[in-house]
Formats: sequence, C-alpha cells, structure tokens
Amino acid sequence: MDCKDAAPPPFQPTTQLIDPTRIDLMAAVSALPAIAASSLLTQHLYYDDTELFSSVGRVISQYAATKDGQEVLVLDQTVMHPQGGGQPSDVGVISSPDGETSFRVGHVQKPRGAGYIEHVGEYSSPGRFTVGDEVSVEIDSTRRMLHARLHSAGHLLDTAFVNIGVKDLIPEKGYHFPDGPYVEYVGNIPAEKRETTIQQLNKEAQRLIEEAAGVVVTMNDKGERVVDVGGSECPCGGTHVKGVADIRGLTVTKIKKSKKNVRVSYVLSDN
Ligand SMILES: [Zn+2]
Repeated sequence: MDCKDAAPPPFQPTTQLIDPTRIDLMAAVSALPAIAASSLLTQHLYYDDTELFSSVGRVISQYAATKDGQEVLVLDQTVMHPQGGGQPSDVGVISSPDGETSFRVGHVQKPRGAGYIEHVGEYSSPGRFTVGDEVSVEIDSTRRMLHARLHSAGHLLDTAFVNIGVKDLIPEKGYHFPDGPYVEYVGNIPAEKRETTIQQLNKEAQRLIEEAAGVVVTMNDKGERVVDVGGSECPCGGTHVKGVADIRGLTVTKIKKSKKNVRVSYVLSDN
C-alpha cells in the first residue's frame, strides 16, 4: 500500500494568490523566487470527484519543460491528476473555448511540496496560450477510471488482509500502474503459506466487492485527505472509484519476498 507516501504533504502558502489574470508568476521567480513559487497555486479538482472528466480554468504560468521540446502549462485549477502515490498521471487536452488553440498533455506532475500542478506536453495548433487565457481541460476518461480501479484495488487488499486475520503486515507502498500493479508490506508471509493466502485474499476481495460498500474520502484533523476502501483507512491523494463494487474482477496473482517487504501482485479483469 502507499499509505506512507501517497498523500501530498500539506501545502501552506505564505501568500495568497494575487489576481492571476495577466500575471506570469513564474516570470517573477528570478526576482522574487520565494514569493512567486509560494503564490502559484492550482486547485485540485480531481479531489472532489473522480468522475469529473473536464474542467475550465485559466493559464497562470507557462514555461519550457526539462524534456526536449516539451512545455509546461500551469492553471489556476485542473481536473488532471498528477503522477504520484503510485498512480500514473492523467493525459488529455487543454484547449481554448473556441477550440482553435490546443495543447496535448502527455504527463502531469506536481513538484514536491509545491501547490501547483504542471501539465507537460506540446501544442497541437499553430496558436499558443498566453497567461490569463481561459481554457478547458479534458482528460482521457477511460484511462482515469482504470487508474481509479487499480488504485482502489490496492487499498482493498489492505482491508482483505485484515479481514483474513493477517494483521502484522505494515503497508509500505503501492504501484497502481496497469503494467503489473502490486502492493508491498513490511513483513513476510512464509513461502508455504503464500498459495493459501492468495486463495483467502481472492475470496475476501470478491466478498468485499459483492458487499459493495462506499469508498469514503474525508479530511483528518492533521489536514490530510484520508480514503477508506472497504474498512481500512489511509492518507492518500489519489483518485478512487466511488464504491467498492466498481473495482470489479480483482485477482491476486502472486506473493513474493522483495527485500524487506512482501510484494502482492494483482490484476483486474477487463470488464
Ligand atoms: Zn492510495
């Protein structure tokens, strides 16, 4: 699981965002780095609704990415989830209201400790945005929902372990990418018990999915976003399905030792 590192550190701006209209805050970085960086804020709309696939916003900064030929757009709010916490980023398009200017987003990231989100990609139109422009954001919804299922499935395995009576494993990290997702726990499951444990986990995961509890997202008293999937809570900044039933077709395929951890690999069915 990714309980330790999935939730972004709370960001405390030292200044309020100045009216973002027509102000390129990154351009001010060289003059006032501390103020400019802490003033750049993106509202994380994906926190509120996993099934929100589009949003509107305003460009608050634009600059070259470190990757060749790629550029970065920063908006005042976005529906795009940045890569992090074991979850891949969304991809999609940022376009002008008239559709004439468009920017293809291939990767989304959030610099550590920052309050803004970087949309990395390239223009697919001759025209470009300038700071202050209104834009609409649209994500690849199929990819988003697959990521949500994979991420929630990883959390559900925490619950399944507790429910089958394995309580001495400590959630360590998760890899919720489609190409071989897994969760890791500090501890071990003896080799001779792994096959039985896989069967118990699969049975319990199926029961939890049929039970169809809701996925509950709250804020704890430390200001962290906490996600409960089937009964186990952990701090997490990812996007999740709305109910456990939406995970569908979860199968644990392998348990193996991985350094100090035990790694539990899983797959989701296609439907
Ligand atoms: Zn998570």
